[in-house]
Amino acid sequence: MPDVLIQRTEETDLSRNHARSLSKINPPLGNVASDLIRPVEFYVGLYSVNKRRMAESNLAFLVENGAYKTVAIVSCPADKRYVKVRDIPHPVQWIEADPHNLGEVVLRTEKAGRVAMSIVHPDIIGERMDHLPPQSALAKYAISSNCDLIKQGVFFTTAEEGTAEFEKALRAAEQRLETYYRSSLDGLLGMSEEEIRRVLSSERGLDLRTAAEHFGEEYSWLRTRAPKVPCPNCFEKVPQGAAFHKNDLLGVICVIDWKRAVEAGVKTKDQVPDSKRWWAEADHEERGVDGFTKAELIELGAKHGLTLNPRSTRDELLALVLEAVTKPA
Ligand SMILES: [Zn+2]
Repeated sequence: MPDVLIQRTEETDLSRNHARSLSKINPPLGNVASDLIRPVEFYVGLYSVNKRRMAESNLAFLVENGAYKTVAIVSCPADKRYVKVRDIPHPVQWIEADPHNLGEVVLRTEKAGRVAMSIVHPDIIGERMDHLPPQSALAKYAISSNCDLIKQGVFFTTAEEGTAEFEKALRAAEQRLETYYRSSLDGLLGMSEEEIRRVLSSERGLDLRTAAEHFGEEYSWLRTRAPKVPCPNCFEKVPQGAAFHKNDLLGVICVIDWKRAVEAGVKTKDQVPDSKRWWAEADHEERGVDGFTKAELIELGAKHGLTLNPRSTRDELLALVLEAVTKPA
């Protein structure tokens, strides 16, 4: 069954208006005599399931193309399965500088399927996505591996949206994108942190972030990296909010937040200096206020808004503190 539905227009002679309307969908045709321009026979729809979003834009990709110069592939909205990028009329006609006559232009004509294929994968000869070369052959097109939008879920079809044929093409595109995303994420598994950082800062970084989001998977590298600040102890640069770090020069663990360092298991409670023992207060609570020293009572009183006289006896302080503590708010 042919998947190209040919809807020939009745009109063979193009009126000026028709030529003008064609110029909206075709690349600019300049002043080419309208009798050279062929009528549109049918359209190939270009679609995308890719939700990647280039910085500060609603675009997933910008690709160079012979006929259209630059093709902007919009991002698929988060709540949609696909987005229609554009209709490509058949035939596609555009003008180019005439290589044989300086200053002159020539009209170029190409099949819509060929133009569509050149957008999604410049190296593939053919005009139908349901007749793609096998994966193993596709992998050999290394030259334009960066412009492989087929694996990126961009697809074209002449099928009408909502038909079974369209659904088939759509599902195939979704599967190709998932395959690419899965292998991209799995490809990070054996990598060192440094290699992962390098990949993330490359063009592939956006794909990896979009892939992780697609599968709803958590990765340590997904977290935005905190800016580095000087360590308050040794002034080495450390991630903001770090509880401890390894001092490169001395090779020791330099602790910034002892409580979190103990919780993380890099230090034991016994190693915590007296001045950093955060649990002292908790022990008091276990002992009860009765066991508090004078200094502790004054401290506790201060928390309840009391200014206590250190010269008072311990019993006097205790009475005042107990009154403040048990007083209903
Ligand atoms: Zn330090």
